[in-house]
Parts: sequence; structure tokens; C-alpha cells
Amino acid sequence: MNWAPRVKPIKIRRLYRYARLGIYDDLLLHDVGWELYERCTDIATVADVYREGRVPCPKCRTKITRRIDPLFSSGEGGTHENWFHCSHCAKRLLWRDCRQSLRNTPRCFDCRSVLQKADDLACVCGKTWSPAAYKQSIRTRVRLPCPHCLNLVRRPDPPSMERTVRMRKSSPALQCPKCQAVALHQHGNIECTACGYKRRWRDYRKSLKKKDEKLECPNCKYTFRWQAWRKSARPLRTGNPRPAREFVKKWIRCRTPRQRMIQIDTLLQTLHGRGPLAPLFIDSGEHNIRQMLDDLAS
Ligand SMILES: [Zn+2]
Ligand SMILES: [Zn+2]
Ligand SMILES: [Zn+2]
Ligand SMILES: [Zn+2]
Repeated sequence: MNWAPRVKPIKIRRLYRYARLGIYDDLLLHDVGWELYERCTDIATVADVYREGRVPCPKCRTKITRRIDPLFSSGEGGTHENWFHCSHCAKRLLWRDCRQSLRNTPRCFDCRSVLQKADDLACVCGKTWSPAAYKQSIRTRVRLPCPHCLNLVRRPDPPSMERTVRMRKSSPALQCPKCQAVALHQHGNIECTACGYKRRWRDYRKSLKKKDEKLECPNCKYTFRWQAWRKSARPLRTGNPRPAREFVKKWIRCRTPRQRMIQIDTLLQTLHGRGPLAPLFIDSGEHNIRQMLDDLAS
């Protein structure tokens, strides 16, 4: 996979040196901004792979479904069975995303306005919460606003065993490792429908993890190994892709040099508070980047 490179610190320093003199060097703003944009796009792409279980082809970026659905493996953030849909806007949700969205942007549970942050969290409608009480509420409420449409959604029930099993059985294209015929996951085994091959599911899964998983792009026929892809994506992998997603969304809406500077600055300030995240974007070590961001903020 050809990932966009990280942005060079020297360019960022130059940008701020000019900005401090009141100069927006638009050529440089475009240069840095679009480099950040490309990198952020790649970071978001990698994060999607671990959410959706579909891998972009390194040649043409067509999304390829993995043969082993990684979402069933809790080690890779198994969430498949916990998806539900907002009854208002029909978007696919995870309960933890509903919670996270309120941690990022606290909203009133009643009128859903964005809360003002002072010592307490205060709403225009008159309600207030202490930060601790608000956190507690996020954890315990069974109805929270949908992150997309803000209508209240109900916490889904945990998936029943029956549903889990049904979804596993319906998971596509399980192949017999011996004869490549259709195999089934049943009674805790993988069982081939053709040759009678049978093995404990857990052992089968373990053996797959060790073995190479070959992927073929249905569009351009390029073949590659999941393990190699994953390795190439490791420097872009983060549990917190939100700053990258935000930047991608907002950068393309910037119309003036000032707006461009603000978006770049917003991203860098976000990175400033999150040490290990910064080296995903900027071409240097955590310590050096912190030093630079300290300098820029002073
Ligand atoms: Zn919704
Ligand atoms: Zn309110
Ligand atoms: Zn077989
Ligand atoms: Zn392809």
C-alpha cells in the first residue's frame, strides 16, 4: 500500500513563523494542508478496515471483504454483533460511539443543545451537570442521542447466543482448507460439506492466524497478503481516528488562507494534547513533536 507520507516538521515551523508575522503564505498552507489531508485520509481508511472488515486494494482501492471476518475476533475489536440502527435516521451505530460522541461534544440529554463548559456543564435550557455527574450519566443512561441525527436511541440488548450463532453461520464463504468446498461453522467445529473434513473451530482459527491470508481484488485481480497489508498499515493505526476524520471533513470546506490556517492549527492543537497520536501525522518522534508543538503554542 502506498501511504501518504507524514508531514515534515520544518514546513510546519515555517508556516507558524509566517503566521506570527501576520502573513498567510497560501502556497505553503496548501502544501502542508493537502499533505495532512492525504495522511488523514489514509489514517481514516485504516481505521475503517478494522471497523468494517474490508481492505482497500493496494492498486485500485476497491474494498475487498476478508475471507475470515475479522470482526468476529475480539482481538481485532469484535463489534459485528453489536451493531444496531438508529430508528430515526437508519444510520448504523455502536452504543460506544453514542457515548464517545457525548464525551467529545457534551450535549443536553433533554434538549440536546451543545453544553457550555465552565466549572459545570450548562445548557441554554437551564439544566446543569457537574463533569462527574455528566460522565456518570453517559455511562448509565439507556437512551442517548444518535451521533448523526441527535434523536434519542435506546441501548440495544446484548446479542443473544442464538443470534450470534446465526450470524456466524451466515458469514460468507467459509471454505474447507482441504478441498475448498463450502464448510460450515457448527457444533464448535468447522465441518466440510463435501469431503467430511472436521476440526475444532478454535484450533482452525488459531491455524488461520498463523497462515497467510491471501486476498484477491475482484476489480483489478491484484493479489496480496493480509498480513503484509496489515504490517504496512501499522504506522497509521490508531484507536482514535477522530481528529483525522474531522480534518478530512473540514479541510475541503476551507475557502480562505485564514480558514486553512485555522484548520491546520486546530489539528495540531488536538495532537498536542495526545502525545502518541502526533507521530502518525508528523515526521518525527513523540518527544521532538511535543517540543515543536510547545514552541508553536507559546
Ligand atoms: Zn439517527
Ligand atoms: Zn437543554
Ligand atoms: Zn472438504
Ligand atoms: Zn484492485
